[in-house]
Amino acid sequence: MMKKQIFIGLTILTVVFFMISIILSINIWITRVQTINDLNTNVSNLSHTLNLYSEGVIRQGEMFIDNLSDITEIYGEDKNKLANIKKILAGQNEFLEQINNVVIYDVNGNKLIALHEKFNGRVNSADRFFFIYHQNNTSKKIFIGPPVVSRTNGKWVITISRRLDDHLGRFAGVALLTLNIENFLETFGNINIGHSGAIGLTSESGILLVRYPFDEKYIGRVISDSPLFTTYLKHSDSGTARSLSRFDNIQRIYAFQKNKRYGFVTTVAISVDEGLSSWKKQSEMLSVIVIFLMGGVITSAYFILRDIHRRVYSNRELSKTTASLMTANKKLTAMAAEDSLTGLANRRKFDEVLPREVLQCVVNNHSISLMLIDIDYFKTYNDNYGHLAGDDCLRQVATSIKKTVKGGSALVARYGGEEFVVILPATDLIAAEKNAKKIIQNICQENIPHEYSPFGIVTVSIGIASGPGLAVKGKEKMLIEYADDALYHAKYAGRNGFISSTHLF
Ligand code: GH3
Ligand code: MG
Ligand code: MG
Repeated sequence: MMKKQIFIGLTILTVVFFMISIILSINIWITRVQTINDLNTNVSNLSHTLNLYSEGVIRQGEMFIDNLSDITEIYGEDKNKLANIKKILAGQNEFLEQINNVVIYDVNGNKLIALHEKFNGRVNSADRFFFIYHQNNTSKKIFIGPPVVSRTNGKWVITISRRLDDHLGRFAGVALLTLNIENFLETFGNINIGHSGAIGLTSESGILLVRYPFDEKYIGRVISDSPLFTTYLKHSDSGTARSLSRFDNIQRIYAFQKNKRYGFVTTVAISVDEGLSSWKKQSEMLSVIVIFLMGGVITSAYFILRDIHRRVYSNRELSKTTASLMTANKKLTAMAAEDSLTGLANRRKFDEVLPREVLQCVVNNHSISLMLIDIDYFKTYNDNYGHLAGDDCLRQVATSIKKTVKGGSALVARYGGEEFVVILPATDLIAAEKNAKKIIQNICQENIPHEYSPFGIVTVSIGIASGPGLAVKGKEKMLIEYADDALYHAKYAGRNGFISSTHLF
């Protein structure tokens, strides 16, 4: 029973733990999804903002180069005019801090004027990508070229250039503005994207213009074969994705935003590990707390179950003890009903049985008889043979009486001292007298020597009283008195005989 309850308890506990684990897992999973959603939103917002920033910078550059180109085309490329143009340039310079240099090249790629004249290396740029592009392309739109190292100061720059035509519409050179990548990096560097984040600016054709954190080996790399260009940008101008970086092998969540005016693509990426680090810490802490609590519950359950087990055990022990106590009690009751010397029923038992037997005789309409038996000259026996021999004699006489009246419902009891009493239910006086005679004979046959008795052996005298159950009922004491009176007469008559009471019920 108890084992079943413990089993049910353990099952409930297991189910509860299982459910808590599931809830915990769901909670951790949901917060992870939420964290990733938040990261996506953040990188999207950043890519939008940086796209606007870059567009602003390039737009200023465009206006600048457009003005310069128009002026140059209007005034022509003669030296005096160019000197004036240069003055105008110098004044404009301050408005766009990203400007590295502004240069006008003639039809052959030779430098005509430059904002900053200090050139390292060759001054001819006919080999530059932007120059070749404008030579072959009649469009008057600006061209954002791949990043190059400036020949003015050796810094990485993005080129914004426009074709110059002569008054016949023939190619007359290129106006070029170079933007410092440094300035972009400075702006990007002020944005918190973690230690493993990355911000990139890529041309429409997939050439990496700027990448933060800066590393020279990334600049100018072609990434048009990346999923961003082969897949995502084909479907949408902006969005978020996940990728393993080809540069540093880090898993990142990134947002991309293609600029509608210039076509360049701004990307903002943050490392998944870094983005999820606070979620991870929180989940770990939550798990530790839950595991700790579960541990607490298990420990308490263990102690409670142990306590229950102990109680059950001690209860069992208690019932065992109770059972043995009850057995002992029964023995005690039996002993209380028994005379310790002779093993016969004692006086208490006799007092209890007599009315019961009388009642039984009433019910069955029977007579009941009672005998009082007293050993003759027992005082002298004791005095001469000693008390221990007296005890032996008592036992022998008791056994003899018991044997004689055995069977039926007769009760032999020790009435006190050397006196015995026999209840004979369903027995009339004549039958009782037969019993008395037999008792006296059998005791004589025991032949217990008693040289201080005139008979030479131990003898008994018996007084008998008898009556119908119905008459005796409620007068049991009288039955005993009549028997005692008869016994007195038997003694008086010379002992070793029986006398029946003459009193009638
Ligand atoms: P009578 O023939 O008239 O009955 O004489 P009696 O000597 O038997 O009667 P009395 O009442 O004078 O003596 C009874 C004696 O029984 C006294 C006592 O020493 C002895 N007695 C009573 N109970 C016990 C007992 O338990 N053990 C022993 N050894 N003697 C007992
Ligand atoms: Mg006596
Ligand atoms: Mg006597």
